[in-house]
Amino acid sequence: MSEWSLAALRAGLSDRTFSARELAEHFLNRIHTQDAAINSFITVTPDEALAAADAADARLAAGERGALLGIPYAHKDIFCTAGIRTTCGSKMLGDWLAPYDATVHRQLTAAGAVLLGKTNMDEFAMGSSNENSAFGAVKNPWDLAAVPGGSSGGSAAAVAARFVPLATGTDTGGSIRQPAAYCGITGIKPTYGRVSRFGMIAYASSLDQGGAMAASAEDCAVLLSAMAGHDPRDSTSSTMPVPDFAGTLNQPLAGLRVGVPRQWFTGGLDATVAARIETAIAELEALGMTRVAIDLPDAELALAAYYLLAPAEASSNLSRFDGVRFGYRCAAPQDLNDLYERSRSEGFGAEVQRRILIGTYALSAGYYDAFYGRAQRARRLIAAHFAQALSQCDVIAGPVAPTVAFDLGAHRQDPATMYLEDIYTIPVNLAGLPALSVPVGFVGQRPVGMQLIGAAFTEDRLLAVAHQYQQRTDFHRQIPAAFREGAA
Ligand code: GLN
Repeated sequence: MSEWSLAALRAGLSDRTFSARELAEHFLNRIHTQDAAINSFITVTPDEALAAADAADARLAAGERGALLGIPYAHKDIFCTAGIRTTCGSKMLGDWLAPYDATVHRQLTAAGAVLLGKTNMDEFAMGSSNENSAFGAVKNPWDLAAVPGGSSGGSAAAVAARFVPLATGTDTGGSIRQPAAYCGITGIKPTYGRVSRFGMIAYASSLDQGGAMAASAEDCAVLLSAMAGHDPRDSTSSTMPVPDFAGTLNQPLAGLRVGVPRQWFTGGLDATVAARIETAIAELEALGMTRVAIDLPDAELALAAYYLLAPAEASSNLSRFDGVRFGYRCAAPQDLNDLYERSRSEGFGAEVQRRILIGTYALSAGYYDAFYGRAQRARRLIAAHFAQALSQCDVIAGPVAPTVAFDLGAHRQDPATMYLEDIYTIPVNLAGLPALSVPVGFVGQRPVGMQLIGAAFTEDRLLAVAHQYQQRTDFHRQIPAAFREGAA
């Protein structure tokens, strides 16, 4: 059951081969017996899940049908859920109960999807390996010595291990695409503004975007259709109409131009990863797409700009965690400064503190123009280069990350090398564009992802390219041996 596609699960629910309760129990049992190996969940919610499943069964029994009605899923633990703790991977919010639901959670609840729990993540979504979680590192189901990627590493690992057919994620600089690539699943970061940020704990508000993670592009399309849409409670939410992404997967692709950035295949890109992506691009050509070379010259510039802008926004967003209103408070504070200082240094982990320091420095009087102002100008340049590239092609194809999943602990001593993992994903967030990761093979037992990037609000086309590629390949159907049905 856990290896079935969403369509198969929906068919089973529709013709009542099994109930939503049985489906939830099946996946809960997998989590219960096997998650200790990978630590992909922070909180599992069997009672709430079974109650939601019973409610879905009642709707199904009354004849209602829906794309997600009765379908189990997990939320990255950054989406607020009233009544279920939301930790954001931090000791700061270790037992915090949100007073309201994120809009995304309301939408999925209304659709009748069944939440099984909240997945592990890098603290406040800062990281590329899921080693920054206050709830322990997540392991890659393909190779327990490897990281799953981050910051949505728990969601990616849970889908790869088939603990849930669907999971939400968020992507500020790559946090959906990179863990999707490392775990051999499909993940889409939509256009900035496509998915509401209301109730999604803020890291860097001008870059953060929620999205969908699943085995296939088809299943991502269904989840994204339910998550997307205008929200008056998010001032950056787009009013663009949301197509039914599942209904446009077979749109014709012949004649589309696939742009391959010259600069992304030189320098730091691992040769074996490059070879897998080349093979995948050849498949796109076999679908009738035409390959063109394009220029995206400023990946290094993007990285430098991002690691000023994201910490700057984070330092402001995270100032609310002061030991007074939210979350963790130190024991026996001597005075107000002691309360702030110790609550924040005890509640936040090392990487979060590093980012707050960088961001506060970059924004401080006298440095603002030299750092923040210049980074904003770099951001505009990067967006302009993407616009130019996308005038020469319809879809950009390239790597998600320079390597496959690295070993746990490999970058622990050197955050700057970790930051390099995001070199191909970060420029996309700076430009606000949609992009996805699709599995295209393995190096040893570790998966490789290809990134597809499009113009704003062309998620339908990106999903169609990924879907039609997946009709010709079966990398997205592979399951790590230890997590196959019947394996111990
Ligand atoms: N790895 C990047 C960072 O640490 C991106 C994280 C993200 O997309 N949330 O900021």
